[in-house]
Amino acid sequence: MRLANRRGRAALIVAAGRALDVHDTSGGRFGPDPQQLFDDWDAFAAWARTASGEGEPFTVSDLGAPVPRPRQVFAIGVNYTEHAAEAGYPPDSVPVTFTKFPTSIVGPDHVVELPSDRVDWEVELVAVIGRRTHRVSAAAAWDHIAGVTVGQDLSERVVQMVGTKPQFSLGKSFRGFGPTGPWLVTPDELPDRDDLGLSCRIGDEILQEGRTSRMIFTLPQLVERLSDVVVLLPGDLVFTGTPAGVGNQRTPKRFLRADETLVSAIEGIGVLETRFTPRGG
Ligand code: ZN
Repeated sequence: MRLANRRGRAALIVAAGRALDVHDTSGGRFGPDPQQLFDDWDAFAAWARTASGEGEPFTVSDLGAPVPRPRQVFAIGVNYTEHAAEAGYPPDSVPVTFTKFPTSIVGPDHVVELPSDRVDWEVELVAVIGRRTHRVSAAAAWDHIAGVTVGQDLSERVVQMVGTKPQFSLGKSFRGFGPTGPWLVTPDELPDRDDLGLSCRIGDEILQEGRTSRMIFTLPQLVERLSDVVVLLPGDLVFTGTPAGVGNQRTPKRFLRADETLVSAIEGIGVLETRFTPRGG
């Protein structure tokens, strides 16, 4: 299943550029609010497998965040071997966890204001929790994941680094700093849910290329660890970390500039584009 947020209404993608309105097609049983689907995910997913129709045309500019109002957003730092090496961090025995405050979450094709000239990219696989989840094992964790999408953990490095301790949560939560989309894909649609190619680029300049199989802590291990401490709620997001190639670790450093378009992609999911404007622009 590919599930989108079309102009604020849940929509099932049935073909390239065509989607069924969930509320109308289900006779009002599900939707239209995309967020509410996750509270009854198993019933919705079962219905969605039976839904059919030609759908209506849409373009990416019609789409919002597949999960527009997550109650909790978890993010994991230095979770790829090569990125930990470029950042100079020794391996940790537990995942480095912070939050992106939920108001930073936006959809595909979004225009994000650059608050400074030190804003960095981090392409990440983002998992969406499909059930209330407390103390699940890694072996059972995929059963608690509704689907995955493409995310950008945009990061303002001045706020992050200005003090003696890193301020990940604040520096990564400016308005619009959590682009997600273009849609949610259920794990059964993926070529290999534990090994997906991911990348981001600006124009022809490839910035990051990696595979999710290179995570230090796998997505199931992250769900096990997070849910050992926190009750995970339906519709919560987990940003799973970024591969090597961030701008802050380059020589010379390279950051996002106004009028650039960042193109992020994950195999089996799709492409997420984000544009940038100057502060106050
Ligand atoms: Zn990140």
